[in-house]
Amino acid sequence: MRLLVVEDEKRIAGFLSRGLESAGYAVDVAGDGKSAIECVQGTDYDLIILDLMLPDTDGLKVLERIRNRKASPPVLILSARGGVDDRVKGLEVGADDYLTKPFAFVELLARVRALLRRGQPLPERLQVGDLVLDCIRRRVSRAGETIDLAPKEFSILEYLMRNRGRPLSRTMIVEHVWDMDYDGLTNIVDVYIRHLRSKIDDRFPLKLIHTVRGIGYMLESAEQPAEKPAGQ
Ligand code: CA
Repeated sequence: MRLLVVEDEKRIAGFLSRGLESAGYAVDVAGDGKSAIECVQGTDYDLIILDLMLPDTDGLKVLERIRNRKASPPVLILSARGGVDDRVKGLEVGADDYLTKPFAFVELLARVRALLRRGQPLPERLQVGDLVLDCIRRRVSRAGETIDLAPKEFSILEYLMRNRGRPLSRTMIVEHVWDMDYDGLTNIVDVYIRHLRSKIDDRFPLKLIHTVRGIGYMLESAEQPAEKPAGQ
């Protein structure tokens, strides 16, 4: 997997390429719009991380150029501009995701992985330990016992299971499950996680939902340990 990071701030570009390389990706860095276009013309990237404020041009212009090409990889916009307008504009021009600076690297990595997984067929049945989720019939069971979940609880659990072993921030969970920006309302996630825990974990000695301090939540069965986070 080869990624292109388009970012003029050397510190951020270095931090990103080091982090992504230790997560197993090949990374090229372009410091302005012109070299970004040259990179894209010369190489087939699996994903592009694109800063909006570039010294020679607007990142959105670069995005348009990328989108005009036949094989167009997913684009994750990274920007200090976090306004709803910029976000909408970026997504309209064809960005696949949008992350506002400052960001936690673990969140960027989770989004990168999610974008790279897109287009690959989703499994119909997810299993972590003795917890089984049937995506088609929307049924959940643990140790063979059926568990009734409300629709939002089901969506959160499905999202956690699809990303097993990866910490997910409250913001990511909110954006994924409610399909909108619930800034400031992320504590709603804590409420739903409490419900989920009472249904899934409380009666069992082995807990599957873990709190990740400073980030959010992760689902993992201790019998199959999480992959080591990048750079640690
Ligand atoms: Ca910049």
